[in-house]
Amino acid sequence: MRDGAVQDGANRMPVVELDDIHKRFGLLEVLKGVSLTAHEGDVIALIGASGSGKSTLLRCTNLLEIPNSGRILIGNEEIRLNRTSDGTMQVADQRQLQRIRSRLGMVFQSFNLWAHRTVLENVIEAPVHVLGQPRAEAIARGEELLRKVGLYAKKDVYPAFLSGGQQQRAAIARALAIEPRVMLFDEPTSALDPELVGEVLRVIRDLAAEGRTMIVVTHEMAFARDVANHVMFLHNGTVEEEGTPQKVFGSPESERCRQFVRPRD
Ligand code: ADP
Ligand code: MG
Repeated sequence: MRDGAVQDGANRMPVVELDDIHKRFGLLEVLKGVSLTAHEGDVIALIGASGSGKSTLLRCTNLLEIPNSGRILIGNEEIRLNRTSDGTMQVADQRQLQRIRSRLGMVFQSFNLWAHRTVLENVIEAPVHVLGQPRAEAIARGEELLRKVGLYAKKDVYPAFLSGGQQQRAAIARALAIEPRVMLFDEPTSALDPELVGEVLRVIRDLAAEGRTMIVVTHEMAFARDVANHVMFLHNGTVEEEGTPQKVFGSPESERCRQFVRPRD
C-alpha cells in the first residue's frame, strides 16, 4: 500500500467510470460486462493472463475500441455512442471524442515515439498541435517533464539513440504533456530488458506518489502490490476478483486468482 493512498473512494471524484462494458470481436466476446471506477488519486492495477481482456478494456477506456454496450464516463462526462445500421457502435460526436482523449494519457508496451523527432519534439507535439499551446510554453513544460523522468540530458537526441527504458520514460513524459486527468499504462515494462524495468517502474511509482490517477496493466506483481490501491484480476473477459492489494494478493477468494498471484520461482 502506498503512502497516503485513500482506501475509500466515496469522498473523491470519479475520474473514469466503466459500467457493464461488453466488447466482441466477431463471435468472440472479449469483455463480458466489466465495470471499473477510478476515483481521483486511485492507482488501479489490472492483472490477469494473456488474452483475458486487459488491453481491450484500456482501449475501450480511451475509445481506441468502441464497446458493443455499456457506459463510459470520463470526469463525469458520458461518452455518447450511436448504434449504426450494421449494429456496430460508434462515437456520436467527434469533438467530444477529442476532448475526452485529451484527458487521457496513454503509454503502450511498444513506446511508439516518432523516430524522426527528438525526444523534446516528441513531448511537445500534442501540446502544440493538438492543444494549441504556444511553442515556448510547451518547450518549458516539456523540459520540466523530461527532468522529472530523468531525461533532460537526452532532450535533443533521436529515439534510436536511447535505451528501451529511456524511450519508455520519454513516452511517459509525452503522455504527461497533455496534462491528462488519468494515465493509462498497458504493460509499460513488458518489452524491456530486465535490467531496464526498474527505472520505468520508478517513474510510475513517483507519479503514484504525486496522487495521479492511473490504470496500469502489469505483470509486475510486486509493483502492483506496492503501488496500486485497487487490484482487478481479469479472467476470460470478466472481473474474477478485485479489491485491495492485501486482499487480492494475500487472501483471494478465487482459486484461479490464487494460482495467478502465487509467487513463482
Ligand atoms: P490481454 O491484454 O489481457 O492479453 P486482449 O484484450 O489483448 O487481452 O485480448 C483479449 C482477446 O481478444 C484475445 O483473445 C485477443 O486475441 C482478442 N482480440 C484483441 N483484439 C482483437 C482484435 N482487434 N480483433 C480480434 N480479436 C482481438
Ligand atoms: Mg494486453
